[in-house]
Amino acid sequence: MDVILYIYFFTAGLVLGSFYNVAGMRLPAGKSVLVPRSHCPRCGHVLGAGELIPVLSYVLLKGKCSCCRNGISPVYPLFELMTGLLFAVSWHFFGWTWELLAALLFMSLLHIITVSDLEAKIIPDRVLLLFFIPLFFLRLTEAPLAPWWDALLGGAGGFLLLFGAAVLSKGGVGGGDIKLYGVVGVVLGLQGMFLSLFLAAAAGLLTAVPWILYKGLGKRTEIPFGPFIAAGAAVVYFAGPVLVDLYTGMVEAVIGFVLA
Ligand SMILES: [Zn+2]
Repeated sequence: MDVILYIYFFTAGLVLGSFYNVAGMRLPAGKSVLVPRSHCPRCGHVLGAGELIPVLSYVLLKGKCSCCRNGISPVYPLFELMTGLLFAVSWHFFGWTWELLAALLFMSLLHIITVSDLEAKIIPDRVLLLFFIPLFFLRLTEAPLAPWWDALLGGAGGFLLLFGAAVLSKGGVGGGDIKLYGVVGVVLGLQGMFLSLFLAAAAGLLTAVPWILYKGLGKRTEIPFGPFIAAGAAVVYFAGPVLVDLYTGMVEAVIGFVLA
């Protein structure tokens, strides 16, 4: 019975994930998520039922459009797989609790904004609002943090921190990132918000440095920050307490070493 539920949540994540790919690609352009049906961006070939199966159809078609053989980015099936796995992990961590609902909503939001930020460098307001409302409600009612007001502190802190960073960097941080961090803070609380921002910034920097060296310093290179925020937030959401313990352990070890 238990195995079936893991498979159920994994499959649900795959199927919804493929919908989130479409949503992330179309919403920034103001297009409908439902019409027209999914098609090849090059030849316009409308995908048949068999070609809509998440991940599997990509593998069977060897990553190419069945009509014009145009290559399809492997990023999208990878995101589907990721959301499938994260849904199964959510079930593993939380079982039948309200936090499971919060987890599924949060992972869904992170998937959509990752795609939209990569595709169009936009994190649409209506996506943020659509997920902010139920997540905020859950944090204040059935799935609170301890203490419950940590969600308010984290949300306000995340928003103000990124707002400050945007002012200091003169627009280096986008408005979408600022609002997104408000939502991330509500879900993770203040400490988790800081930790996830640290991870996102570290991962962003590790990616940006070779990128800038490769592309040259002269050009203004814009690397979307959304995917890094999403990665940092997901890691902290599931592994936050473990990471904090690890970090405190490390600091204590260093202090012990220095004092010895
Ligand atoms: Zn095609």
